[in-house]
Amino acid sequence: MSQKIRSADGILQVIPLPGHPAILPKAGETNILITSALPYCNNVPHLGNIIGSTLSADVFSRYNRTRNRSTLYICGTDEYGTATETQALKEGITPRELCDKYHVLHKETYEWFDIGFDYFGRTSTPLHTEICQETYKNLGKNGYLEPQSKEQTYCEDCGRFLADRFVEGTCPHCGYEDARGDQCDSCSRTLDAIELIRPRCLVNKSHHVVPRSSTHMYVKLDTLQPQTEAWIKQAAKKGKWSANSVVQTTHSGSNSDVEIIDARMKGGLIPAPLTRDLVWGVPVPELGREDDALMMEKVLYVWYDAPIGYPSITANYTPDWKKWWFNPKDVNLYQFMGKDNVYFHTVYFPSIQIGDGRDWTMLHHLSTTEYLNYEGGKFSKSRNRGVFGPQARETGIPASVWRYYLLSTRPESADAMFSWADCIAANNNVLLNNFGNFVNRVLKFISSQYQGIVPNNPDSDSPGPLSLNDPTDSVFISQVNHLLQDYILLMDSVKLRQGLQTIMSLSQLGNSYLQSSGLNKALMSSDPTRTAQVLSRALNLIYVLSALVEPYMPATADAMLIQLNAPKRAVPEVLSTDILAGHEIGKPAHLFKKIEEGMAEKFREQFGGDEAKVVSTTKSASATGSSKSKSKSKSKKQDPPAPVYTAPSDVKGGE
Ligand SMILES: [Zn+2]
Ligand SMILES: [Zn+2]
Repeated sequence: MSQKIRSADGILQVIPLPGHPAILPKAGETNILITSALPYCNNVPHLGNIIGSTLSADVFSRYNRTRNRSTLYICGTDEYGTATETQALKEGITPRELCDKYHVLHKETYEWFDIGFDYFGRTSTPLHTEICQETYKNLGKNGYLEPQSKEQTYCEDCGRFLADRFVEGTCPHCGYEDARGDQCDSCSRTLDAIELIRPRCLVNKSHHVVPRSSTHMYVKLDTLQPQTEAWIKQAAKKGKWSANSVVQTTHSGSNSDVEIIDARMKGGLIPAPLTRDLVWGVPVPELGREDDALMMEKVLYVWYDAPIGYPSITANYTPDWKKWWFNPKDVNLYQFMGKDNVYFHTVYFPSIQIGDGRDWTMLHHLSTTEYLNYEGGKFSKSRNRGVFGPQARETGIPASVWRYYLLSTRPESADAMFSWADCIAANNNVLLNNFGNFVNRVLKFISSQYQGIVPNNPDSDSPGPLSLNDPTDSVFISQVNHLLQDYILLMDSVKLRQGLQTIMSLSQLGNSYLQSSGLNKALMSSDPTRTAQVLSRALNLIYVLSALVEPYMPATADAMLIQLNAPKRAVPEVLSTDILAGHEIGKPAHLFKKIEEGMAEKFREQFGGDEAKVVSTTKSASATGSSKSKSKSKSKKQDPPAPVYTAPSDVKGGE
């Protein structure tokens, strides 16, 4: 098929996709380093985790690639610590085996969601150990480490200190007998394991548990605080941090002030422990000091080693990792996380970097989300409520639609609610009827009326940007350009939900354009010149849309490019004629398919957890979902598996 695409600098995407030789920053350019919070390796992620960090970061990294910026997106599993040891104990396997298992589950889940990390690594690697130990030694060399001794619970039979999760006992506040080492489930108070009355070892209740003093190394966050504060104030301004739990920005005039509101900083930071009495972790290295002997057989605390996972995973990706991580001049670091992680990324880890003393690439902009809830409640793994990890694919709903719905409800400023009815409505009303309809109507017209060849005529638009003084379409062209500018501004400031809305406004504009131009067979015979013009402009808007939508729905963008028979376009700043007359398009096909509304009830039942199964109704096989029966019948009637999709509805508009 012959391609006729305008050639000029900057039209096409040139940034290699993940899986190609290592991407490195280019001197003197804006280079984008992206991380999403490392998922902890003892569980599978639910949709709320996915939207909060990995998916959002993926959209932002794909966006930067569509702008031809050198972009590196790094993530991986956070593997060390007590929680892994506890879970491994429960499953009767070693921590290493547990991490191997969950690392794969995480990786598969993200792959299914089309999350395109440049590298998805893990923290239990030799390079991670090396980089953690090096940073620790630098902290020691610079005088920021001091030992402190404290009483801890020790099991004489296990011969080791019991981390919070390995010990239970009676709550000193309310007398509840099964209080955990870190919290009492009865009175909800936070506990220190040493406070428990009659502490029990979880390995064996008959074990003898006693208090014993243990020494740990602490990092002097108090000494570092003035430097950390000064850094936060300038970084928050430069990286345009939005108000969060650490800072508040007051936008008055051109000079926005940054106020630090974190309670811990206001009260004065205190030294934080960097070590733990555990086995599964990075061994504490020797500092060449007298107190080394006190640190024998201890490991680095997981909150200390986890943020170092970002550079260490990068080191596993390329030996040139320092070009990303010790290059604050050329690299902007964007970090994505849930709101509960903010302190560690804005205060704790930057303090460590400052104390380490090297010229680290530090946080430029952080993007946090609030919580995504599920159908009027919370996601709950223990009650099996909500969609976890690989289950999303069981619905038959394609990843692109999942991504669209999750991103369109991204909890940017308040908690959001996942709802099956909304998810199905988003597919049917927005993706199918708006976006998909516009693309299909244009391509099908060219295919059926012009044998797939973009029509040529003496008045065809010349290659390049369309003029704002166009005699027929100046309003349309300026509206498109305006929305394009909005899109770029929104995306550069990581306003992902609004960026997506802007794309849908553009395709809506495309639909109105076809409507107001009266594109149909009658126009084709009465005014072939105008018909060719409308088609060319609509087709080139579709080409633009393929680039705009790529960060959100990469598979949809790929399908559009195949149908357009065109290479990946970079995001343009104005609408231009890039697919030229004489170009041959591919075979049009529907981008989306209708999901029956009745499926909402089916999914609610399938993913509603145990409570949904109890109230599961004996509804007729042809349930419409219009009225919910509340009968608590015990007979769990299983409907035969029904196909998710009906036949594609015919496109609106006429040929
Ligand atoms: Zn024990
Ligand atoms: Zn209690």
